[in-house]
Amino acid sequence: MFEKILIANRGEIALRIQRACRELGIRTVVVHSEADTEAKYVKLADESVCIGPAPAAASYLNIPAIISAAEVTDAEAIHPGYGFLSENADFAEKVEGSGFVFIGPRPENIRLMGDKVSAKQAMIKAGVPVVPGSEGQLPEAGAEIVKIARRIGYPVIIKAAGGGGGRGMRVVHTEAALLNAVNLTRREAQAAFSNPTVYLEKYLENPRHIEIQVLADEHRNAVYLGERDCSMQRRHQKVLEEAPAPDLPQKLRERIGERCADACRRIAYRGAGTFEFLYEDGEFYFIEMNTRVQVEHPVTEMVTGIDIVQQQILIAAGEKLPFRQKDIALRGHAIECRINAEDPYRFTPSPGKITSYHPPGGPGIRVDSHVYAGYTVPPYYDSMVGKVIAYGATREQAIRRMRIALSEMVVEGIQTNIPLHLDLLHDNRFIRGGTSIHYLEQKLADEQKKPK
Ligand code: ADP
Repeated sequence: MFEKILIANRGEIALRIQRACRELGIRTVVVHSEADTEAKYVKLADESVCIGPAPAAASYLNIPAIISAAEVTDAEAIHPGYGFLSENADFAEKVEGSGFVFIGPRPENIRLMGDKVSAKQAMIKAGVPVVPGSEGQLPEAGAEIVKIARRIGYPVIIKAAGGGGGRGMRVVHTEAALLNAVNLTRREAQAAFSNPTVYLEKYLENPRHIEIQVLADEHRNAVYLGERDCSMQRRHQKVLEEAPAPDLPQKLRERIGERCADACRRIAYRGAGTFEFLYEDGEFYFIEMNTRVQVEHPVTEMVTGIDIVQQQILIAAGEKLPFRQKDIALRGHAIECRINAEDPYRFTPSPGKITSYHPPGGPGIRVDSHVYAGYTVPPYYDSMVGKVIAYGATREQAIRRMRIALSEMVVEGIQTNIPLHLDLLHDNRFIRGGTSIHYLEQKLADEQKKPK
């Protein structure tokens, strides 16, 4: 087992990884930017190294600085968390090339899944159902593109092969708008991801977003840990997630889960991963794979009792998975609310000093957050300041516990989206469960129209 791990991330996930390491008796090094020097989780780590100024490009994305920090502190392995360098195959390669262990998949797997076109092709080969669309990237010739779109049928969605974070996508409803939209998306993709490759998919009108969590070891053992429903989204960004997905038949869960575990074995996948699907009329359609721990991993931990971050570390150390598929049971229901520093209805970021902070507690409540009274939320990074997770024997109980938790929670000095979550937790459609990925945006749009 490792003696010391370097955490190449910040905020709540840096603290989450630290906690996993501590429990395993592993020492931690946290790297941080100048904007995060005073954060308590930085002080809590056994060691910390400042790797550059506030802008992420100069610090959290600064590969040479992170590798030097691992060298000077004698860390053996690097955990990338999520975001930043977590899905950067070049980083994984450099980490391993410098003699450290990358806590994540093999670089070639990150590369395969990082390009959504090659990821889809690999899934088709592995027998995982995908969204119908262009086979591979779009050709140059306009007439060819028109033909492909006609075959798929409108509406279609143009997606960037290198896209991520909900960016690089455009929905097209008519042939007249198609070629212009393709060119625009190509230009945006080039600017944002340095890769102009785009592809076409059928635009599903009313799907849910359901994803399968997997764990795979070096020895070709792979299991699935059930699913998460992340349909509550705004601008393709998840807001609230839950496990299991309301009303998903056990047979379908098993069928899609087995497919994902099998795909992992085929590509010799290693570590934690998530297969993201759109789910409509009882059918799953693969959209992409995330080759890292996800923000919403705690809901799966709550219903399976498995610590996903610890498993990532054990797998990276070469250990065999300590359980088989038949040992994994889903118990109860868990919901996660992402707490963002933002205006709850206008969504403008609200960084600044937290003057007063009271986290919730009680049965079934877990708070994953690095903030405290006196902490200043820096303006340079993602606006998420923490996650509240509620567990219950039933979905109903989890909802009730979450309502109580969020009504107790106090965060002053900045604005948060807690009022939006409370609103959702009392929303009849949400309470019934199984809303589509468009539900939240429709609800917000309807409320805007209502006279105040
Ligand atoms: P990203 O990597 O940017 O997160 P994804 O491919 O995972 O991109 O898609 C993000 C979200 O975009 C999905 O959760 C869904 O809301 C929407 N989306 C993507 N593809 C489609 C599609 N074919 N039809 C309808 N919605 C889609």
